[in-house]
Amino acid sequence: RSSGRLVGANSDNGGAPDAKNLRVKLVLLGDSGVGKSCIVLRFVRGQFDPTSKVTVGASFLSQTIALQDSTTVKFEIWDTAGQERYAALAPLYYRGAAVAVVVYDITSPDSFAKAQYWVKELQKHGSPDIIMALVGNKADLHEKREVPAQDGIEYAEKNEMFFIETSAKTADNINQLFEEIAKRLPRPTTS
Ligand code: GDP
Repeated sequence: RSSGRLVGANSDNGGAPDAKNLRVKLVLLGDSGVGKSCIVLRFVRGQFDPTSKVTVGASFLSQTIALQDSTTVKFEIWDTAGQERYAALAPLYYRGAAVAVVVYDITSPDSFAKAQYWVKELQKHGSPDIIMALVGNKADLHEKREVPAQDGIEYAEKNEMFFIETSAKTADNINQLFEEIAKRLPRPTTS
């Protein structure tokens, strides 16, 4: 079911000698509380720990994945930009970002509206070839769902985004999210 395999954060050179090693800046955007930190923690450390905050000032975490074609992709993940108190700094974060992951909480229509705000911001100020993903997180809370999956799908289609629903709590689709992004990255041309 998964097309990539996780390798350690420091195993950039663990692939084949001719492996193409990509490094990409990825920014997370979305309302506070939608689960951005938990998604990063789940992806990077394989844990769900609601009490731990990943976000510490302007820092990033990195994680490398290997794809089947022996490309490795090192994600440098920034998750501070979406916080209200950093809103004015947001353009500094998403400038130079190859990938933006816009997260909402499927139990919160407000967070879905906020996600749409971030998409518009990225369309205005982000790099024109930025790869955007729309993520409906907390998919485990289906009994409290207030944003139908179809709404996410349609909005993403209209805005040429990749769409996925995830759960940082159960780990559902977390690795798949990053693998799908990796597949969409432009590859350096080989001679
Ligand atoms: P951030 O402000 O977007 O970084 O959100 P956090 O990662 O701090 O998460 C906010 C709250 O949502 C925490 O209490 C988490 O335990 C909870 N949370 C995050 N992801 C999930 C999820 O996938 N499912 C459920 N049920 N709760 C989650």
